[in-house]
Amino acid sequence: MLAPNAVLLERDASFAAHPQGDSTADHAAQNGAADGKPRHTISLRRITRKYQESVALDGIDLDVREGEFLAIVGPSGCGKSTLLKIIAGLDDPTAGELWINGRPSIGLEPRARDIAMVFQTYALYPHMTAAQNIALPLRMRRMRRWQRLPGMALLSSGARKGLAEIKTEVSAIAGSLGIAHLLHRKPSQLSGGQRQRVAVARAMIRRPAVFLMDEPLSNLDAKLRVEMRREIASLHRRLGITFVYVTHDQSEAMTLADRVAVMANGEFLQVAAPRELYADPAHLEVARFVGTPTINCLPAEVTAPGTIDVLGTSVPCSLIAPTGTPATACIRPEHILVVRGAEHGVDASVISIEDHGADLYVRVLVAREHELTLRASPADLAGLRNGQAVRIRLTPENFLFFDAEGRRIRAGRRAAAA
Ligand code: ADP
Repeated sequence: MLAPNAVLLERDASFAAHPQGDSTADHAAQNGAADGKPRHTISLRRITRKYQESVALDGIDLDVREGEFLAIVGPSGCGKSTLLKIIAGLDDPTAGELWINGRPSIGLEPRARDIAMVFQTYALYPHMTAAQNIALPLRMRRMRRWQRLPGMALLSSGARKGLAEIKTEVSAIAGSLGIAHLLHRKPSQLSGGQRQRVAVARAMIRRPAVFLMDEPLSNLDAKLRVEMRREIASLHRRLGITFVYVTHDQSEAMTLADRVAVMANGEFLQVAAPRELYADPAHLEVARFVGTPTINCLPAEVTAPGTIDVLGTSVPCSLIAPTGTPATACIRPEHILVVRGAEHGVDASVISIEDHGADLYVRVLVAREHELTLRASPADLAGLRNGQAVRIRLTPENFLFFDAEGRRIRAGRRAAAA
């Protein structure tokens, strides 16, 4: 699976003896190996990458645990690929430190790092069969140049034995990815999804300690993307190795990863489990980036110490700031309810209704100027029409507040009805 294209970065020779690599004594303590805490396969400290006119990475700190699936997500240009390239050894930071498997790795050749990388832009060799493409990294590493020439391996019994071993390993990995029956085909005779599996098999055949992926599904159509997503998750479970996965697609990141690092302008805004990012975002941009439909944001204002006004209603909040301090109040679409009968609510009118099968996304206009999206089941909103006047309730305990810089303000425990 993965991109129709892949490149393998060779791992270092010590891998065969120590499948998880060696830790230097100094970093062993730092990455937790010595004291029973989780080991970190990758550690970044203050990684900075400056270009003449811009700062692509601004002091990134990150520990990726052994076996973890970490997704790096953020809008185009925020620095995701630069960070991945620095981990892979395809670019050098301007400042900062990097350890892979406890080894200081800045300046190490890509091939000396214990990693494999799949990009979206590196093609399989079109003149080779799937088996030859998958075998290539092992042939390059284990066989001398003359032995790789057509027919030459047959002259040496050592080379013949080596070739037989490679064949066995190719069959094993192809079997585990469900492409054993396709090994004789050339890339042009494979579907997009099959080519991706070949690319992954080629990257995985030497069992790296870290698998780096840069937007591996972006060339696929929507249906295949969902299918491939499942395969990547299953591959990660089976292999149990560390994955670092770059994407601009928040739903891909949220559904695949153990933890998601949300980036903006060369910095991490938050690194957390998907559920935590969704329910407890640390920054306004995280709240906006995560979740479909997008979270609703309303202007708010501090009306007294510990109280914020949203749509004319006072809501308790932990912010102690002068009266008049502006803030942003956000609420998820599932926390806005259409109320019936005599129940208290805010007047609104329906602008549009999107039917997504199990859910309706309903856009409403409040106070003549604020558009909000709510999500509800079709059964709950049966008969709702465009243009209809409704009353809505924004469940106050579900508001998330952010200050003018986008930092989260924690809400107080008691909440008034909106
Ligand atoms: P992303 O992968 O999130 O789309 P990148 O890591 O590719 O972002 O780029 C981060 C920032 O660094 C962008 O502003 C980009 O323009 C800049 N950048 C990347 N490569 C170079 C380069 N070779 N020279 C100058 N600026 C660069």
